[in-house]
Amino acid sequence: MKNSILAALLLISFGSHGAVDPIKKRMDQMAKEIEKKVITWRRDFHEHPELGNREFRTSEKIAAHLKALGLEVKTGVAKTGVVALLKGGKPGPVIALRADMDGLPVTERVDVPFVSKVTTEYNGQQTGVMHACGHDGHVAILMGVAEVLAGVKSEVKGTIKFIFQPAEEGAPQGEEGGAALMIKEGVLENPKVDAIFGLHLNAQTPIGQIKYRPGGTMAAVDFFSVKVKGKQSHGAYPWLSIDPIVTASQIVNNLQTIVSRKLDLTSGAAVVTVGAIHGGIRQNIIPEEVNMMGTIRYLDAPMQKVIHDNLRQVAEKTAESQGAKADVKIDVMYPVTYNDPALTDQMVGSLEEVAGKDNVLLTPAVTGAEDFSFFQQKVPGLFFFLGGAPLNKSQAQTAPHHTPDFYIDEGGFELGIRAFCHLVVDYADQHKSTKISSR
Ligand SMILES: [Zn+2]
Ligand SMILES: [Zn+2]
Repeated sequence: MKNSILAALLLISFGSHGAVDPIKKRMDQMAKEIEKKVITWRRDFHEHPELGNREFRTSEKIAAHLKALGLEVKTGVAKTGVVALLKGGKPGPVIALRADMDGLPVTERVDVPFVSKVTTEYNGQQTGVMHACGHDGHVAILMGVAEVLAGVKSEVKGTIKFIFQPAEEGAPQGEEGGAALMIKEGVLENPKVDAIFGLHLNAQTPIGQIKYRPGGTMAAVDFFSVKVKGKQSHGAYPWLSIDPIVTASQIVNNLQTIVSRKLDLTSGAAVVTVGAIHGGIRQNIIPEEVNMMGTIRYLDAPMQKVIHDNLRQVAEKTAESQGAKADVKIDVMYPVTYNDPALTDQMVGSLEEVAGKDNVLLTPAVTGAEDFSFFQQKVPGLFFFLGGAPLNKSQAQTAPHHTPDFYIDEGGFELGIRAFCHLVVDYADQHKSTKISSR
């Protein structure tokens, strides 16, 4: 009798709320204990950044750590990727956690003791290399998560697949890489992944906060190039030419109507940007051709066809109207980073539990892109943003990602570790076999 009253009281006071779950309590404790170590790892990676498909030192450090934890480790996945399995003591689903490892060709300008002094040649230019997107933090956080989960292994339900991914920012020209190559090499199989979680540190979100969005969260991205072929002549006799410079200018102008006049923007933002235009060599020569290239972004998958069709038509027909010819090439890059609505709904409670309800915020979609989207095409996935902005700085004072002054405050790392750990435990607890929701 006494026992059942006690049990009932416990149930009333705590209900099914996870905060008192002993495994979560232990994980939270461990996350706190290893925070310093995680920051040390991050600073080491920050000081030694490596570009996509060249993350040799990074993956060596990761693999050594995961092996020391007793995990089953596979290296050389999609060139430099590391994949490790932690088999929990109890049956359950297969949950993947992903961190990207690559740095960027940016020369760091931040005044920290662990500033990157690494330089390399990139696309024929000498440049510094910098973790200017926070991927160093992602790696360190996931290494910490592996350590915490290994510490409670006997109570973990199911299998955790740790995916350390190369080349999120894109593989070097002519090479395959990133999430797409990992999937091609079977990273989501053997054992088959039921759900995947990923995070991105954000330099504009205060530490302590988590931001997320169900559905389309980050844009799809495609690249395009247009070669405008005309006829060369002396600049003094333009009537003898077919001027590719005038034609290219008209194409750039006409492309502006794709977003403003062809797309229903109520279903999501879209962008068509011409980022480079090259033609000519001298003031009095009308050149034979002009080359331009640009980027396409959209948040609603069906927009892709509208943009591609119109881009081709506008470029080709504008050129034709001038007697020139436009060759349009479009490279399909990353799909929309799409958070499975059912999974997102199911897991928001876990994020609120670790960060506090007021610190988990719905974010507008962004026109940046992320190749985590490839995983989400295959299995339900949730990708969220973790605060990395110092609390004493306003958003206007924080440098954007991919810039020399980019800075991440490490104060949010412990929350990142706890968020992943709680997601794993809660997902396993709630697991029924889920399918990707229809889009
Ligand atoms: Zn980036
Ligand atoms: Zn990134």
